[in-house]
Amino acid sequence: MLQSSQSLVQEKLTLVEQQALQQRWQAVLEQVSRAAKGQSQQVTLLAVSKTKPASMVQALAEAGQVDFGENYLQEALDKIQVLKSQQPSIIWHYIGHIQRNKTRDIAENFAWVHTIEREIIAKRLNNQRPENLPALNVLIQVNIDLEESKSGCLPEDVEALVCAIKDYPKLCLRGLMIIPAKEDTQAFARTQALFNTIKSKYPELTAWDTLSMGMSGDMVDAITHGSTMVRVGTAIFGARN
Ligand SMILES: *Cc1c(COP(=O)(O)O)cnc(C)c1O
Repeated sequence: MLQSSQSLVQEKLTLVEQQALQQRWQAVLEQVSRAAKGQSQQVTLLAVSKTKPASMVQALAEAGQVDFGENYLQEALDKIQVLKSQQPSIIWHYIGHIQRNKTRDIAENFAWVHTIEREIIAKRLNNQRPENLPALNVLIQVNIDLEESKSGCLPEDVEALVCAIKDYPKLCLRGLMIIPAKEDTQAFARTQALFNTIKSKYPELTAWDTLSMGMSGDMVDAITHGSTMVRVGTAIFGARN
């Protein structure tokens, strides 16, 4: 069962829990930097804190982790609210499915969105992004395995979506994101090829620099295939309830 988001903002960490968390985070950082050695791209670690208490985010932010990813909007908003004053430099990424009636909260509270799959969602985010905030960084989620049940834009439709949203003034189109099927060992390579095709075809996309792929179980393989952002939950925060 999901914990209520209220308890997630109140839960405290013991010192031992805090130390264990920092050790797991350090180990992941080392794994990422080892995998990135010899690669030409820089790799950012996105700590996926869904279902985990705000106190864990706070502890890692104090240790130097900057980017955090959340999937569930209400839970994320509660954490963002409580951490706003203590940890103003956290960069929040929305990585969950986007419902049409939730775009305003996303546009107002996040710096990045990884899960754009339709133009209408991009348009709403653009229109609802507050004037006083910089453009919202967005990634197109690609359904790279063509799975019927999966979110994401079909690979053959990515280019049309790029063209539709690249000139929105309050969005900054940064690249692609995938969640590959476990058995698909070629997904990273296909996504890297698609990413590079778009990069060379649309030189006006000057901020096209982000390939969000790789999670706890496959981050090394993803980095080998050009990932610039790995989204890691379990390996940092432990198993989810
Ligand atoms: C939960 C989640 C992750 C993290 O998965 P782990 O296997 O726990 O590292 C990454 N990306 C997305 C989109 C997720 O929902």
